[in-house]
This record gives sequence, structure tokens and C-alpha cells, in this order.
Amino acid sequence: MNRRNRVLVTGGAGFLGSHLCERLLAEDCEVLCVDNYFTGSRDNVTAMLSNPRFEDVRHDITFPLYVEVDQIYNLGCPASPTHYQFDPVQTTKVNVHGAINMLGLAKRVRASILQASTSEVYGDSHVHPQTEDYWGNVNPTGPRACYDEGKRCAETLFFDYRRQHGMPIKIARIFNTYGPRMLVGDGRVVSTFVVHALRGEPLTVYGDGDQTRSFCYVDDMIDGLVKLMNTPHEVTGPINLGHTREITILELAGMIIRLTGSKSGIIHKELPKDDPRRRQPDVTKAKDVLGWAPSTPLETGIEQTIGFFDRLLNTEPISSRSSGDG
Ligand code: UDP
Repeated sequence: MNRRNRVLVTGGAGFLGSHLCERLLAEDCEVLCVDNYFTGSRDNVTAMLSNPRFEDVRHDITFPLYVEVDQIYNLGCPASPTHYQFDPVQTTKVNVHGAINMLGLAKRVRASILQASTSEVYGDSHVHPQTEDYWGNVNPTGPRACYDEGKRCAETLFFDYRRQHGMPIKIARIFNTYGPRMLVGDGRVVSTFVVHALRGEPLTVYGDGDQTRSFCYVDDMIDGLVKLMNTPHEVTGPINLGHTREITILELAGMIIRLTGSKSGIIHKELPKDDPRRRQPDVTKAKDVLGWAPSTPLETGIEQTIGFFDRLLNTEPISSRSSGDG
């Protein structure tokens, strides 16, 4: 008898995690959403709670978890610099202890496990665009290290579990992703600029604004993650997932002012330490191995995101607007 896929999503109440849970429910899976709600939000999962195939557990993955599942998406970790630098020791712990716990669980129940890794493993890259074979340029003692080195160590653990135990592992290196359910106060550039523009406040460009990023819409990212999880045993990655359109932060600010029709201006603030200068994924591998490429143009995705924040800012009391991310 065919039974439904039981899928565990850590960080399931976060930005990416909640979109992934919805997608898995739509594909008829049973979904176990695990989150400690440090940056995840109840609002992100409320609509799923009435679905009998959805289960929601408050749990911190730095502690072991005993459940029976077929697949594990390991997304649990605060993703914005503001949040992951709030408690950097805990950020390293969730990346390292969290990975060990989830890999141990995957080993015991023979589940496939996918790690949400990051473009941050490339650090301030000397290779452009970034290809998966580049080993990176990360400052191991700087303020971003808890996240960057934590994610790098998690990749090491995934490959060592694979080599020692022959496990089905998958590693996605996620580049900057944006969309509805980012949080008002998370400090990431798209959400911050959209909120400033909607409130008519100046957009805060760090440095001269000629640093670049490549922004992927959340729906495209979820497609890539699901495709990677469902590849054969021999496909491990790491595989870059992200949009290839590179844009300066100053251009992004201009685009958001234009698309919101805002009268906001731009002010410059100090560039944070170790802020990468350029970032753009080479997604050749994702195209070849997964048949995946992002399809949402930046303007379209930004418009969706503006719509989300516009509704949020106009319907929620100010006291409940700022929380974490995922
Ligand atoms: N940034 C900015 N103003 C802001 C927030 C971010 O100019 O209010 C810049 C930041 O310095 C970085 C880029 O936007 O160069 C992307 O920042 P984000 O925190 O979104 O992502 P990451 O640096 O992790 O790629």
C-alpha cells in the first residue's frame, strides 16, 4: 500500500519554512513543522493548523528529536544578520548541534535529508559568479562567522555522514531570497527598503550602495528545494539556488521607491563589517541536474512583496509588527 510521504521541516514557521510546508501539503505530504519560534512566527502557520496532515511542534533542534519521518528539510536557523548576530553562540549551536541531531535522526529512520546551506559559505568571494567548486573567503572570527562558519561546518557534517554511513544527503546553497512573510524588523534589505518606502521614510543604503546581490523570489526557491530533495541517491550537491540577475543595492533602492510610488529619499549609513562586495550565483549545475531556473522577474516579485507589506502595515497594530524571521 502506498502511504503518504512524512516530511519534517525544521524552521517550518519561518519565512522559507512556512512556504515549504504549504507546498508539501499541496503535494499531499504529511508535514511535521518544527520551530522554536525564535524568529519563526505563529502567523505563518495559522492557516495550515486546520489541515489534518499538518502537525506543529515547538522544539529547539539543538536538542535531540525522536520522530518517524521519510524526509527532513533542515531549515532551522535565523537567517538575517540582525537576528543571527543577536545570540551568535546559539547561531553556531543551531547550525552544528542542530545538524548533528537532524543527521542522527535521518540515520536512525533512514530518511533523506536536505540542508539549507547558504551563499554565505563563499564569504567575500574572489570568484564571480560563484560556482560550487569555489571554497570561499570567510573571516572565521568576524561578526558573520557564527552563521557562515556554522553553515560551512554543517556542510562538512552532511558529507561526513554520507561518507561514513552512506546516507542520502542534499545540500542547497541558497542565495538572497525575498517575498511575502519576511519580517518587518529583520534588517534584510528587501523587507527593510519596502517598509521604509511604504512608510515614506528614507531608505538606508549601507556604504555607497554599489555592492551587489541577486534576489530570488520565494516560490522559485521552494521549487528548487523540492526538486533537489527528490533527486536520486547519488545527487548530493552542493547546488547553488538563486536568481542570476545581479543588481546594486542603490539600484534596488531606486526600484523599490519607483514600484511603491513612494516619496522617500535615500540616506547612506556605514557599511557593516565583512559585508560581501558582490554576489551572484552560477546556476548551471541546478539547470543541468534539476532542470531548475528561477522564472519570476525581480520587478514582479518585488510587487508581490510590496503588496504583502502594504496589507500588513495597514491591518496590524504597530505593537505586533516586528518579530523574527526564519
Ligand atoms: N543593506 C542596506 N541597507 C539596509 C539593509 C541592508 O544597504 O537597510 C545592504 C547590506 O549591507 C548588504 C545588502 O544590502 O550589502 C544585503 O543585505 P542583507 O542583510 O539583506 O543580506 P546579506 O548581506 O546577508 O546578503
